[in-house]
Amino acid sequence: MASLPLSRCGGALLFPVVLFSLHCAAVSQINIISTEQEVALGRQFSGEVEKEMKMYDDVEVQSYIDSLGQLLAAHSDRTEIEYHVKVVDTDDVNAFALPGGWLYVNRGLILSAENEAELAAVMGHEIGHIVGKHGARQMTGRIGLSALLGMALGENPGMVSEMVANLVATGTLLKYGRDMEREADRLGIDETYRAGIDPSGMASFFGKLLELEGGRETSGVEQFFSTHPPTKERIDNANRYAGGLPPKAGLTTDSERFHAIRKRLPPLRGGS
Ligand SMILES: [Zn+2]
Repeated sequence: MASLPLSRCGGALLFPVVLFSLHCAAVSQINIISTEQEVALGRQFSGEVEKEMKMYDDVEVQSYIDSLGQLLAAHSDRTEIEYHVKVVDTDDVNAFALPGGWLYVNRGLILSAENEAELAAVMGHEIGHIVGKHGARQMTGRIGLSALLGMALGENPGMVSEMVANLVATGTLLKYGRDMEREADRLGIDETYRAGIDPSGMASFFGKLLELEGGRETSGVEQFFSTHPPTKERIDNANRYAGGLPPKAGLTTDSERFHAIRKRLPPLRGGS
């Protein structure tokens, strides 16, 4: 798998076969589209996402999630782009990012986080995918540069809607490699820490999900599990990385606003 030549993955003809497989992971390091093109690509996807998924329009909830997302993004390693943060009206416990600065947070995720640090950790992880340009890198490797640029220009709406249909079904636009997930975890921890939020929220949230999975105590977490398996190794890494950051005074774990927002939301189907 590691030695696949670039030419095997470069053609749009391979799209239906390889799009959601791991065959082109070896070329996923390649990212040669410009920031402008990446933002145009994200805009194409966001238009389709907001047609296919119901956004949660409550102004208070939306404004809180946007301000938390903007705070984290402002403390990320990629501040030259505009971030768009929205709440999706579904119980499914998930969040996802699109290339170029779009971040979507499910209502179910807000309810599943016990405190603001846990919510911020998952949002920070998704912002990490944007910072690392993971979406554009994966797509370049899977479908080829010319197909990707065509999508950015709006020339292939069929391909955009096919990928968004997959997102609706599976909770992710495309599966990121393990290295990208690790990098997004680290970047997310950095963002929360720099933003003054307790960086242990990542390990704490994944640890809780792992327990829930074992006990099957709740519904709705399957989407997140399918794309972000909260393995013990991952939790250990997050703990080690967050624990290795220099001590910092005034880190917050929670806020009254977070709990006020949670109270505005209808309870999850599972009753939590
Ligand atoms: Zn991820």
